Amino acid sequence: VQPLPLGATIGILGDGQLGRMLSQAAARLGFKVAIFGPDEDSPAAQVSAHCIVADYNDEAALKRFAELCDVISFEFENVPAACLETLIGFGARVAPGPQALKVTQDRILEKGFARAHGIGTVDYAEVSSYDDLEKAIRIIGLPALLKTRREGYDGKGQVWIRHADEARAAFDALGGKPSILEARADFVREVSVIAARGHDGAWVTYPVGENHHVQGILSTTLAPAPGAEVLMPQINQIASTVLEGLEYVGVLGIEFFVLKEGLLLLNEIAPRVHNTGHWTQDGCLCDQFEQHIRCVAGWPLGDTQAFATVEMTNLLGADILAAHRLAAEPHSRLHVYGKSIGPEGPRAGRKLGHINRLRSGYAL
Ligand code: AMP
Repeated sequence: VQPLPLGATIGILGDGQLGRMLSQAAARLGFKVAIFGPDEDSPAAQVSAHCIVADYNDEAALKRFAELCDVISFEFENVPAACLETLIGFGARVAPGPQALKVTQDRILEKGFARAHGIGTVDYAEVSSYDDLEKAIRIIGLPALLKTRREGYDGKGQVWIRHADEARAAFDALGGKPSILEARADFVREVSVIAARGHDGAWVTYPVGENHHVQGILSTTLAPAPGAEVLMPQINQIASTVLEGLEYVGVLGIEFFVLKEGLLLLNEIAPRVHNTGHWTQDGCLCDQFEQHIRCVAGWPLGDTQAFATVEMTNLLGADILAAHRLAAEPHSRLHVYGKSIGPEGPRAGRKLGHINRLRSGYAL
């Protein structure tokens, strides 16, 4: 693959904060970005050269997008895989490819992929009916977590089942959608890695981050995670297996449960830049966004070494109202996504920005 020339146009499906930060990174390398997404004045459209506002299944709009872009990627893993296939049909170069999207969009396919490649996961069972759920509970035991196979994020589409008599309510709470029942991981910490692979098969990982969730939503990432160096050989092995197994081109995030004995279980693969990689913006010379742009553009991969320890904290809902105070904090950098806030104020739990605080580094 020839590297894209300066001034080429990179397309991004999805118009949220990840698209915004990809676009900002692309601009720094001299590319133009075209955003394809459902909303006017979206976080990504505000900072991009072009924007097509349309549904992901609008063929005429996808055709225009394919003609406009030299390569197309995505920031949102719930883009239908068929949408990528349509773009390829219109002659677009797409990275990552539809296969990677298909596998990682579906928790059953994702865990099956991991297991087939010798990567550990929690025990799980497929649930397509209430009967299946009763059977699954007998096999997996309780407590267990029922999750929809597709389209869950930030703890949505998940219900804990602690006693057998909660099964019916849990099944109904997920609307009877095709689901997965997962055994509870008895983890001591949660970590994740950001990994990237270029067209030529070269791959890199960033230092691991330690993540803390509140009510299923990521609250903070501390990276490089203290004491996690010992996990790196195992994590690099898993990351390279995942990247190669998916013939992946671009950045992805892999979330893990770390068990007592230092054993790792893969929880989830996100086929895109990832919230747990936002620390790289202020801890590494080449952040995850620039890395993704480099990968899809066929450019050489960038430096992933950390020059500082960073604590990234998501600004959820009303947290953003403290922006001016946060901006005055020393040794920190504020990132705001430009989402519109209605007259009723910010919606609780909505990701509106983040702050990266240096915990070690230059003057600290
Ligand atoms: P997920 O959307 O699958 O990343 O889940 C969000 C969060 O819920 C995880 O980061 C964990 O904190 C928790 N969680 C998910 N699956 C499990 C599990 N099988 N056992 C224990 N905790 C889990």
